[in-house]
Amino acid sequence: MSTTTVTTPRGGPGLEQRRRLVTEIPGPRSRELMERKRQAVAAGVGVSLPVFTEAAGGGVLTDVDGNTLIDLGSGIAVTGVGNSAPAVVDAVVEQVQRFTHSCFMITAYDGYVAVCEALNRITPGDHDKRTALFNTGAEAVENAIKIARSYTGKTAVVAFDHAYHGRTNLTMALTAKAMPYKTGFGPFAPEIYRAPLSYPYRDGGLSGPEAAARAISQIEKQIGAGSLAAVVIEPIQGEGGFIVPAEGFLPALVDWCRANDVVFIADEVQTGFARTGRMFASEHEGIVPDLVVTAKGIAGGLPLSAVTGRAEMMDAPHVGGLGGTYGGNPLACAAALAAIDSFENDGLVERAERIGELLLDRLHRLQASDPRLGDVRGRGAMIAVELVDPLSGEPDPGLTGRVVAHCHANGVIVLTCGTHGNVIRFLPPLTIGDDLLQDGLDVVAEALAANR
Ligand code: PMP
Repeated sequence: MSTTTVTTPRGGPGLEQRRRLVTEIPGPRSRELMERKRQAVAAGVGVSLPVFTEAAGGGVLTDVDGNTLIDLGSGIAVTGVGNSAPAVVDAVVEQVQRFTHSCFMITAYDGYVAVCEALNRITPGDHDKRTALFNTGAEAVENAIKIARSYTGKTAVVAFDHAYHGRTNLTMALTAKAMPYKTGFGPFAPEIYRAPLSYPYRDGGLSGPEAAARAISQIEKQIGAGSLAAVVIEPIQGEGGFIVPAEGFLPALVDWCRANDVVFIADEVQTGFARTGRMFASEHEGIVPDLVVTAKGIAGGLPLSAVTGRAEMMDAPHVGGLGGTYGGNPLACAAALAAIDSFENDGLVERAERIGELLLDRLHRLQASDPRLGDVRGRGAMIAVELVDPLSGEPDPGLTGRVVAHCHANGVIVLTCGTHGNVIRFLPPLTIGDDLLQDGLDVVAEALAANR
């Protein structure tokens, strides 16, 4: 069996912020480790870019072969404050030396309460709020639904076309895409219904209010507000293709929910924490969700998630009805307090907006001379391009795969998404520099040109 030399690489912003390849991608050590992975790790756990990470920070990730790659993925929108952000590292080190775990349900600790206070303060709306902490996005979505059912005494839940809410049984039911998320894994949780989304690029010109009326009419006909506990929606869809609903769609849904005693749940797992150029994507249209689900960016890379919402809803479940061994783990809470402080005080919301301007400007310029870029969309540091056959407008997942492979081979980490796998998404850490971002986009442009 091969071994890896023990080194103590340091991540964080101190890493040289420059793309530099010293081997092919993947290099020999990554290939060796991938072989070990194949022998040891369940095949269902895939890896998009078969390199092994050594360190990461700022806007780069270094691999075990000494290559430095540009990170345009943030580990799927997690390391918004940067990887190994110094304030997060310090907070976690301080906490790990005090205690690692007590289980908040057994003996409490102040970090948990402080994270809840912070989320109550920064999530949309100035009503009285409460928060509960969990470990993953999917777990938090499940708990939001438990809370909505407990509060309303109703059972049905509506999710939308192209939605992604996770891989647990209930969240698989909410997730729209069969392959790879659901195929072969049923039966799924009952009482989940799907409504049509507003998808401006493929909606035949429906306005936001028209798209909302279409969804509401379907909900009223097929379920009825009297049975409906909650509507759950990503304000900008993540895995589904970075679909920004037309203006007016989300506010109309919120109004209908409020008029019909239906809990409106915003899944801000991917869009939260400065990502879209606001602290939460709901703010772009001024909507105030009843419950907000957060995870990913919340704790600079440590596993933490939350449900934050109206006090009367959050307090509906009986004592002992919410929780879990690790939910609100002290290390994750320490990390979250440092991360939230950074989001609020290091200009990261403005930085996300600026990153969005750079990305949109460059991608729109590429689109002007290349009709395969069917749609360029998104907000802040959550931008995507939908690649299509220019003649038919049909999704082109083949081209998407080739462009992404070219980027990977040239040291740029980009991710795909979309129901048809034809969307390339850009989710850089908010700590990336402009030069690095431009270099990454140069490689994307090269990749498109090389695959004409
Ligand atoms: N909701 C959304 C919008 C997501 O993007 C994700 C993860 N991609 C989840 C829920 C599930 O989060 P997790 O993987 O932490 O369970």
